[in-house]
Amino acid sequence: MSNHLRRVLVTGGAGFLGSHICERLVEQGHDVVCLDNFFTSQKQNIAHLLAKPNFELIRHDVTLPIWLEVDQIYNMACPASPVHYQYNPIKTTKTSVVGSINMLGLAKRVGAKILQASTSEVYGDPDVHPQPETYRGNVNPIGVRACYDEGKRCAETLFFDYHRSNRVNVRVVRIFNTFGPRMHPYDGRVVSNFIVQALRGENLTVYGDGSQTRSFCYVDDLVEGIIRMMNSPDPPEGTIGPVNLGNPGEFTIRQLAELVIELIGSKGRVVEMELPADDPTQRRPDITLAKRYLDWAPTVELREGLVRTIDYFRALDLSRFRPPTDHTAHKSGESAS
Ligand code: NAD
Ligand code: UDP
Repeated sequence: MSNHLRRVLVTGGAGFLGSHICERLVEQGHDVVCLDNFFTSQKQNIAHLLAKPNFELIRHDVTLPIWLEVDQIYNMACPASPVHYQYNPIKTTKTSVVGSINMLGLAKRVGAKILQASTSEVYGDPDVHPQPETYRGNVNPIGVRACYDEGKRCAETLFFDYHRSNRVNVRVVRIFNTFGPRMHPYDGRVVSNFIVQALRGENLTVYGDGSQTRSFCYVDDLVEGIIRMMNSPDPPEGTIGPVNLGNPGEFTIRQLAELVIELIGSKGRVVEMELPADDPTQRRPDITLAKRYLDWAPTVELREGLVRTIDYFRALDLSRFRPPTDHTAHKSGESAS
């Protein structure tokens, strides 16, 4: 990576992944602008950065245009867990589609390089395994996950059309399930759910029979891959990607539950609950391209990543977070108390 210091915009910068990206870029000396509407995150994630001279926070919604002079944009803004993105599905699609149009328009005007946080969800419930970038996916366009999946697919279309039509310098990464410190304790994702349940001695809620698989990447590995992708040199054909980023280690959800119980020494046990609609049965990244283009591969095993994440959750004051209810707006706000 070049050592040039840059002005960098991170949309969704207060979120789980965004806050780690901001932190890494601030450490590297870049001027970082974090933009977030705090729909699924809390200021606590970036509180330690607020006093840094090279960090700035803007409360803004990416579905509205904004003008900023920056050299690079990491477009991370979008609710990412099924509970969050299904709360207001139309807004989720708008965030991906209108948000991408606004950020691509900004990139075009100021000549910034822009990276899109796409997702393994573009593959839907895959019938090719593991998933290479050439696989075009199996998404239900009218299902409950479509607001996220199709929104992200349309965002990819926009990125490549802005590249072809307007020569915007784009990078697209397809992120597979990532976990680690600063996940929201009530975001409903499987790793955070299982750890919170196990720490409380509650039963771990496996949806379906737990035979569905996921591949879990530790956040530090993922952030390294994202930053390498942003700073990867331009090939003669104009751009690279999309590129899968994730850990190819594949586990059933039941295996994950049993590992969390073992690591915490919890008295909770596995209970089965109804499987949500369109829940993908298997998922595992083919990371050949990431290795070739970025010389990147994950280094943190699931067990080690879980130990670090459990330490984070153990130290977290859960009373500061509102538990989910049927009526709270995004079920994830920071408690006022
Ligand atoms: P997150 O919910 O913690 O972070 C998303 C951030 O975006 C939050 O801070 C939220 O407040 C903000 N946001 C949402 N809508 C916004 C809007 N309209 N305007 C401005 N800010 C908005 O989730 P995350 O796990 O950090 O995910 C970050 C990105 O990575 C998302 O785009 C997600 O789709 C993508 N991704 C994440 C994973 C994963 O496993 N964590 C996997 C695939 C893709
Ligand atoms: N899951 C589960 N129990 C939970 C939360 C999730 O069994 O408490 C399952 C879910 O049905 C899915 C997998 O774990 O099969 C991953 O779910 P998550 O919401 O973390 O991510 P995604 O489905 O988007 O990959």
